[in-house]
Amino acid sequence: MAKKIVAGNWKMNLVKDEAKALASEVVAQAKAETPSDVTLIMGVPFVHIAEVKNIIGDAENVFLAAQNCYDKPSGAYTGEISAAQLKSYGVDYVILGHSERREYFGESNEMLAAKVDAVLENDMLPIFCVGEVLEEREAGKQNEVVSKQLSESLFHLPVEDFKKVVIAYEPVWAIGTGKTASAEQAQDMHKEIRAMLTAKYGDAANDISILYGGSCKPSNANEIFAGADVDGGLIGGASLAAADFVAISKSY
Ligand code: 13P
Repeated sequence: MAKKIVAGNWKMNLVKDEAKALASEVVAQAKAETPSDVTLIMGVPFVHIAEVKNIIGDAENVFLAAQNCYDKPSGAYTGEISAAQLKSYGVDYVILGHSERREYFGESNEMLAAKVDAVLENDMLPIFCVGEVLEEREAGKQNEVVSKQLSESLFHLPVEDFKKVVIAYEPVWAIGTGKTASAEQAQDMHKEIRAMLTAKYGDAANDISILYGGSCKPSNANEIFAGADVDGGLIGGASLAAADFVAISKSY
């Protein structure tokens, strides 16, 4: 059975005091309200990692994610952050391949394959994002696009490593637009993704968490999470309000 996961992606939001306040509220509310079988993850900007790790402390159901990393282990790469550096601050998960990284920072499937390897080599877990843009959906090409993203960045992994990956399906046209994929569109794509993973890795695919992302909020999470192949969500805007974020973690 795939683990239920609700992960927040703060993106490039919040200054130090705001980040500390939000993390404290999330941890307090999650301790009281998030069901014990749900893994809650805060995906925070690099600069807030140490503070947020400290605030999470020994909370059992709250974990820490970074939003990117570089694939090289160390060296003359000014401005970059390695997977080993993230690990040394107690990061648990790393979001990779977000559509904003693909679009604004030119991250290719090949570059992402190397980042996936770096994260796994450092005993962290990748949250690997896939998804089509609007024109691709309108041309009926979403399965082809997602299949290529999965196969070029993940399918080199042996099954023991592949089992550590979390997948997030984020249709780019639904990110930050208020336009959610319908529950049916989400389930259809998640089912396709599960089938692609099964074709490559067999039954191990049933244990992979596939999260939906794109304008997910308390008012629609219940319906979306009801899909048989939807194991949770990757939440952008709504992860910036503790009450909304924690409410989503109760939406199964
Ligand atoms: P929104 O929830 O703001 O649409 O963002 C989704 C997302 O990109 C999460 O990674």
